[in-house]
Amino acid sequence: MKRAIFPGTFDPFTIGHYSIVLRGLNFFDEIVIGIGVNQSKKTLFTIDKRLEIIQQAFANEPRVKVASYNSLTVDFALSVDAGFVLRGLRSVGDFEYERTIADANRKLTNVETVILFTEAEYSYISSTVVRDLYMFGKDISTFLPPNVKL
Ligand code: ADP
Repeated sequence: MKRAIFPGTFDPFTIGHYSIVLRGLNFFDEIVIGIGVNQSKKTLFTIDKRLEIIQQAFANEPRVKVASYNSLTVDFALSVDAGFVLRGLRSVGDFEYERTIADANRKLTNVETVILFTEAEYSYISSTVVRDLYMFGKDISTFLPPNVKL
């Protein structure tokens, strides 16, 4: 059984994240989406709301699970018996950050990082932009996965 985690803050989980997970299911048997709870990072959506959005998005996909964690990402991977970390890459801006974390994770354990390039149509979508639109009262449904009701 090939199991990966897909870690992130997901404040909120966007259609860009959704697309990465769906594509990941083509080569992983199971993906555990891990919402990292970082005390020093202030978020707009509560943990419960972030969990609910992801549960709604994957209500019909039993191979996707979701959990929150407040440990190191690699420790979370080991705790759910996952050998892989799945991440998405939008731009060169993401690259250096992802490489540093992937190198550190591999040094600590033998957990491998698998990175997928974002589909071009989603490469400009970030949780930050979606939060800003939401805070100014805009309809963000086109930026969220299908079937999600806020
Ligand atoms: P983090 O705080 O760990 O960066 P995010 O919730 O912002 O968490 O992102 C989680 C993962 O999803 C990261 O690998 C990020 O690069 C990726 N990601 C974010 N937005 C998109 C997008 N629009 N398309 C594909 N991948 C994305």
